[in-house]
Amino acid sequence: MKPVTIVSIHRMRTAGLMILALMWTVVLAVPAAAQDYDLVILNGRVMDPETMYDSVANVGVKDGRIAVITKDTVTGEETIDATGHVVAPGFIDGHFHYTGIFGAKVALRDGRTTLMDLEMGTLGTKVDEWYTAREGKWPVNFGAASAHEFARSLVLDGYECIDTSDATNSRKAGTGWSSKKLDLEEANKVLSVVDEGLAAGALGCGSTLGYMRDGVSAREFFELQRLAGLYGRQTGAHFRYTPGSEVTEANGIQELLANASALGAPALACHFNNPGYNLVQELLVRMRARGMNVWGEIYPYAAGSTALNAVFLEPEMWVETLGYKYEETIQDVATGEFYTQESREEMLKKEPTRVVLVYKMPKSAIVDWLRLPGVALCSDAMPLVPDEVTWESPYDAAPNSHPRFSGTWARAFRMGRENDIPLMQTVAMSSYNLARPLGEMGLKAMQERGRMQPGMVADITIFDPETITDNSTYEKGIVPSTGIPYVIVNGTIMVKDSEVVQDATFSGQPIRFERVESRFEPLTIEGWQKTYYASPVDFGGGVPGSQPRNMGAPDALPDTHGHFDRPADN
Ligand SMILES: [Zn+2]
Repeated sequence: MKPVTIVSIHRMRTAGLMILALMWTVVLAVPAAAQDYDLVILNGRVMDPETMYDSVANVGVKDGRIAVITKDTVTGEETIDATGHVVAPGFIDGHFHYTGIFGAKVALRDGRTTLMDLEMGTLGTKVDEWYTAREGKWPVNFGAASAHEFARSLVLDGYECIDTSDATNSRKAGTGWSSKKLDLEEANKVLSVVDEGLAAGALGCGSTLGYMRDGVSAREFFELQRLAGLYGRQTGAHFRYTPGSEVTEANGIQELLANASALGAPALACHFNNPGYNLVQELLVRMRARGMNVWGEIYPYAAGSTALNAVFLEPEMWVETLGYKYEETIQDVATGEFYTQESREEMLKKEPTRVVLVYKMPKSAIVDWLRLPGVALCSDAMPLVPDEVTWESPYDAAPNSHPRFSGTWARAFRMGRENDIPLMQTVAMSSYNLARPLGEMGLKAMQERGRMQPGMVADITIFDPETITDNSTYEKGIVPSTGIPYVIVNGTIMVKDSEVVQDATFSGQPIRFERVESRFEPLTIEGWQKTYYASPVDFGGGVPGSQPRNMGAPDALPDTHGHFDRPADN
């Protein structure tokens, strides 16, 4: 194959899959010359979830890209015999909160070639710093959204938080980030911080709305989605009521999707493996049928993981409203012990952001999630506490964490095998179902990943469909997956013979938009009144006294449970 052919195939992609399919035939028909490739992968079952190509073939990789997929003999400087193995697009994780390089090592063993944080992300003013810290130094591809929570932390609590690992500090620095309602001036400040990140190329807005449900008004969240939409980018959210009941979970996605459809903006339903997931999925499918770019992600575990002081774990919500018992559902990650109301209160005084497991769903639901079309897998890997591990550290040196950190992808394939889920369905969930919607936002790095096609970036995961399995458990969360002998990142072999190549060249690439001009226009009362005749009360406009106290006044006390006093003159 000559490079010119690869380029032309690549261009043809925009003309549609029909033409691509025609070109494919041409590619397959052209015999390849000897030693044309840097790397060849022979006799594997090549699976492409976009074209549904599924056949034993040889793959030639050159200059970090898939140059050819052919039945003909090919030779290269390096050769992998993939007989009996699946050759799939490298697995893509859009929800990885841990930022240490050890996390990339663990994720590589699970077949993941890209780790992004689309739910939390990084502070808008630090997007350049976040990417620069990884460029040329990261073993997998990396990307982040512009963080709603950190913009609130900065404006309301004065804390400059760069990533989720640091959020254990930012969440202690004040309570404004979570519970303070914004006035118009603060709203403009928060949005301009998020905007700085979008202009710098962040992957949309990430919002931990469910942790800020008392502070973030419906108007603020709408404006956040509007801002991301001005760039054509997604807002990814931990819904307002997650984890909640079947009704409140549905109301959470309805807020995200109602805004998305009014704005024509892309949206990501973060980890919707919760009560009400069937309605969430139906809403997403129906909106996609109407041409909206909206999608969701799940992790295949019955338990979640969060900080002990999360607002939804307060007794009024967790026990009284949702009906859970602490002693059955809230388990300490480090000690394995379940909390009682008393021991939770004691620990909150000592270590409010202590990491816990939260059991909230029956196991049988997991198989249901793994069958859902168009859904992406995610790990929601949390920061490690304490965090003393490095690239060289052995796996058992890490403190315990939720098993989703290390095992999500291999677990999905194992459970798929055990429950007769078509292999292509799991392959699609593992990469393409996230690459596709991000690519549709115009993100080039995701238009050329998540696919096994000539011209695509050579992020490739090779696994044995009969033996691939997770090995991590709730008791021992950081145990590498097995049955994945090779993982290739941008053409570089990072996992070889089931071990991470410790001295490999770090070839991880930034997953990022080009820098553009700011698109943020500060909100004004006059602007709203001119266009919509009415301005929002919570941002300082509206009719005074038209809304109950504690439900929108900028100085309102946090009101978790909906109790409020109506003004006396009502
Ligand atoms: Zn979350």
